[in-house]
Amino acid sequence: MAEALIGAVEAGGTKFVLALARKDGTILRETRIPTRDPRETFAEMADFFRTASASHGPIGAFGVASFGPIDIDPASPTYGTFTATPKPGWQGARFHDALGEFGVPVRIETDVNGAAMGEWLAGAGRGCRTLAYTTVGTGIGTGVVTAGTQLAGFSHYEAGHIPVRRDPARDPFGGCCPFHGDCLEGLAAGPAIVARWGDSLDKLEARETAVELVASYIAQHAATLVLMHMPDRLIYGGGVMHAPGLIAAVRRQAEVLLGGYVANERLDPGLERYIVLPGLGDDAGITGAIALGRQALDASA
Ligand code: ZN
Repeated sequence: MAEALIGAVEAGGTKFVLALARKDGTILRETRIPTRDPRETFAEMADFFRTASASHGPIGAFGVASFGPIDIDPASPTYGTFTATPKPGWQGARFHDALGEFGVPVRIETDVNGAAMGEWLAGAGRGCRTLAYTTVGTGIGTGVVTAGTQLAGFSHYEAGHIPVRRDPARDPFGGCCPFHGDCLEGLAAGPAIVARWGDSLDKLEARETAVELVASYIAQHAATLVLMHMPDRLIYGGGVMHAPGLIAAVRRQAEVLLGGYVANERLDPGLERYIVLPGLGDDAGITGAIALGRQALDASA
């Protein structure tokens, strides 16, 4: 019998990356399609897998790492359904409807959990038992992987919305989260930076002060992750982290905040090995989606 293949989907707000892969991660065919409305995008997605499977063999499971918010509780009747997403047309769309014709298990996770899995397996988190992966971009999200499993409660974590300390004298900007105002995302994500200074961090002239301020919030998040999860490593990716000097400032300030309280060889002096940039870059999402498909395949065997 032919080896069952994995259909992997990295579903982003602007594009879908689709891959047909072997269980060992080898990609047999890959494509990118723009994210339009769910009817068109899902039809194109199913087409790709139908055609790819006809040339390479039957699909045994799907792994999906998707933008959200999306129901990722396998026990829920609406598992795989987009919930309150602001993206027009996507609320109520369900991956299972689009992939149901293949009659195989479908495993869904958030994009950040998928990327965390990818980094844990093949990126900057290789060799870690517990890894926290955070993206700082349009929003802020964190996925925690322990021994190959994504941690979650009744839903995915929302560490981007933790409250952080803000000194109004130093930062009069009140934050832009519609729910919390000056939560972490409301102060440090891309839209907050543009709202406060009129441009992205890497383009600002008085960048040094801005970088230190943004780092002060991300460092609070980093220290919180250490205290909550004791990860072996923290990875910070996403567009905002490309700003020169930002990761160095996060390391410096997180070390000060931790105050030497957590003494462990993993937390090297200066945190240069502890707080790092991603290893996979743009490939983390699809690598993670393949890993999710593998989990679904193994669970159904
Ligand atoms: Zn918030």
